[in-house]
Amino acid sequence: MSCYCGSSQTFEQCCQKILSRNNKAQSPEQLMRSRYSAYATQNAQYLFETTAKAQQADQQLSEIAEWAKQTVWLKLVVHHADERDIVSNKTTFDIKHPPKVNFSAWYIHNKKYYQMTELSSFIIEDEQWKYSIGESLSHHELPLPKRNDLCPCGSTKKFKRCCGNF
Ligand SMILES: [Zn+2]
Ligand SMILES: [Zn+2]
Repeated sequence: MSCYCGSSQTFEQCCQKILSRNNKAQSPEQLMRSRYSAYATQNAQYLFETTAKAQQADQQLSEIAEWAKQTVWLKLVVHHADERDIVSNKTTFDIKHPPKVNFSAWYIHNKKYYQMTELSSFIIEDEQWKYSIGESLSHHELPLPKRNDLCPCGSTKKFKRCCGNF
């Protein structure tokens, strides 16, 4: 199976290494992808820990967990990602211009199908990338795929046998 984040690698080769803390996310895009995979695998602890401290206060671990449990993530598309190397930025990070990742994600929540597009900012804290602020660019409901349609997640299964199996 390819990774939840939509990369061409398997989950084991890709986001799992980061979720298991064996590897650090090397770029804002990698962190963003790993957070998407954390949503998909309901890893609320990871989501909380990779949120910048200033934003953690607004979030409850239990709320993240509850939201993740009720949501099926179908697809992620990264449109643009500013690349910064963590080593070169360790001492010279410009807090006024944090690197950003522009992405769209498709998910089902309470049997409704949504597309969201966000511009997320990332900062370095404790020598690792963290999610800082997300600016929502669009967020709307889409018609639910028909039961016999191919699933939009790209699995080549019918929707009813895949992400629409509820
Ligand atoms: Zn991945
Ligand atoms: Zn699917």
